[in-house]
Amino acid sequence: MMTRAPPTFRSAARVLCLAVIACVSLPVHAEWVRRIDDGIMGTRITVELWADDKEKGEQAIDAVLDEMRHVDESMSTYKPTSEVSRVNANAAAGPMPITKELFDLLTAAREYSVLTDGAFDITYASVGYMYDFRKHVRPDEAQITKALPAVDYRHVILDAKKQTVRFSQQGVRIDLGGIAKGYSVDRGIDALKARGFTRAYVSAGGDSRIIGDRFGKPWMVGIRDPRKGAGEVITRIPLVDAAISTSGDYERFFEEDGVRYHHIIDPHTGHSASKVRSATVIGPYATRTDGLSKTAFVLGPEKAMEIYNRIDDIDAIIVKLDGTVIYSKGLEKAR
Ligand code: ADP
Ligand code: MG
Repeated sequence: MMTRAPPTFRSAARVLCLAVIACVSLPVHAEWVRRIDDGIMGTRITVELWADDKEKGEQAIDAVLDEMRHVDESMSTYKPTSEVSRVNANAAAGPMPITKELFDLLTAAREYSVLTDGAFDITYASVGYMYDFRKHVRPDEAQITKALPAVDYRHVILDAKKQTVRFSQQGVRIDLGGIAKGYSVDRGIDALKARGFTRAYVSAGGDSRIIGDRFGKPWMVGIRDPRKGAGEVITRIPLVDAAISTSGDYERFFEEDGVRYHHIIDPHTGHSASKVRSATVIGPYATRTDGLSKTAFVLGPEKAMEIYNRIDDIDAIIVKLDGTVIYSKGLEKAR
């Protein structure tokens, strides 16, 4: 006859069993691993992730930084050998075969141009290349007038079947500086997901993306006050599985005779676009939020907010020139 163990023992044994299972399945070294890198794309890159094992976490961060180096190598217009530089040198002469990666990004860029009534336009570079914000150099009116007809996203002709790009006229230049950082963040996140990471934050300059949460709590992302120091924020936004991009007139600029020239160019005038102090866009992935965050500078806060409210998967926060802050409908509801 089987004797039953007294209930107290049974439950004690169960507690012990559970403790053993927990020890086996809950990795003892799990921790947040974080790294900051200032050596790629001329910007600060931050990666933070929850890793079962610190070494695997560090390797994953290496992989994220490799993705960013790759984007820099193929998209930077400062590098004459980059694929984008080769397109700029050759695409006016005829259709040029390009990688699927660049083709897809040019297709996304076109979508953002259409969504923003042409405020986002990678051919801004046809005039934009004459600015050097670090050296305080800008083109004069005659140079702008001469180059301006080449600024129009419709000059970039894409052939999906042949995977080629062609410029419809001479003088057209493209620059993906308006989406490259967001795109590199998305590639970084993809690299982490492929390695099985489910809680992470990746940012490159003003573009960030988050997967998962912080164990039941959202990630809190601060939106900088455009006229105060880097640590001062106007608000903090709780985010889970989302991307966020901020464009600011404080990022790269110089002042001359009281005018602030900064790195977002109005494709219609060829001048620096200064209709807001900053614009933040929240959405599903960072290529998209990066592409859409420049709109408000070109179109102004009201028109831009109208566009942002029309696009289903995004929200926005704009700091107007007078310092007042406006929110898209989705955020107004949440406040
Ligand atoms: P960051 O370079 O820090 O990511 P932004 O996301 O605000 O800053 O992007 C600014 C960059 O966008 C500029 O440096 C330039 O490369 C590019 N750009 C400027 N004007 C336009 C425009 N009208 N359309 C698309 N890209 C632009
Ligand atoms: Mg950006």
